Amino acid sequence: MTPPALEVRNLHKRYGDLEVLKGVDLLARDGDVISILGSSGSGKSTLLRCIDLLENPHRGQILVAGEELKLKAGRDGALVAADSKQINRLRARVGFVFQSFNLWPHMSILDNIIEAPRRVLGQSKVDAIAAAEVFLEKVGIADKMHAFPAQLSGGQQQRAAIARTLAMQPQVILFDEPTSALDPEMVHEVLMVIRALADEGRTMLLVTHELGFARQVSSQVVFLHQGQVEEIGTPDQVFDDPKSERCKQFMSSHK
Ligand code: ADP
Ligand code: MG
Repeated sequence: MTPPALEVRNLHKRYGDLEVLKGVDLLARDGDVISILGSSGSGKSTLLRCIDLLENPHRGQILVAGEELKLKAGRDGALVAADSKQINRLRARVGFVFQSFNLWPHMSILDNIIEAPRRVLGQSKVDAIAAAEVFLEKVGIADKMHAFPAQLSGGQQQRAAIARTLAMQPQVILFDEPTSALDPEMVHEVLMVIRALADEGRTMLLVTHELGFARQVSSQVVFLHQGQVEEIGTPDQVFDDPKSERCKQFMSSHK
């Protein structure tokens, strides 16, 4: 059987004395869309950031397509990448879409998109541009190719950021509240792009407060509470029939 696209085992992370992740397990098979819900401060961003090693966990394992990320003890007891070649390779396979877009402001949209495929994947400029055009078309901003990020609306910038992620041909895409920084009228256009990615079978982890959307698009929903998976199940199970009291409370306060 093909290994899961992404697997997290017993992940622990603390900031000083504050335990933020207390043994999180997560498994995404190809084509899974897993929404991660939870109150502010429950550890959702930390979980995504640890998967990509943007934050260093203290314990646990991370496997991408069955390949375990090699970790070693760092200075403060946190785990750091033991093999820089491997982490660069695995990072290229895990895309990250941030709340704040993180486009390079001094580069055109096109240059934002072709930079990493050229530098990391070694694509030729011609190939990288051809691919970028396809992804910009897909997210509906082909006409903004030569614009700079500041000339785009928030919704367009986030769609550009998604195109940039797609250009790296990731196996899994992590979204951390991709619509939270947007004006309300721009939320929809970004959610539609994410839905299209779900429909084409992309494997994604999605942290979002758009519960209606999460319910429609997810194959699985995880409810995180104080750094632990408090509830996991199909959207119907978690939304309509949560077992844990806290998940019930969360659902009823977000109706
Ligand atoms: P969420 O994304 O679910 O809102 P976070 O993962 O951002 O939660 O944060 C979980 C907890 O970790 C919070 O209590 C937050 O204050 C704390 N935290 C997050 N990042 C840091 C950091 N860099 N240093 C110290 N504490 C942090
Ligand atoms: Mg967060």
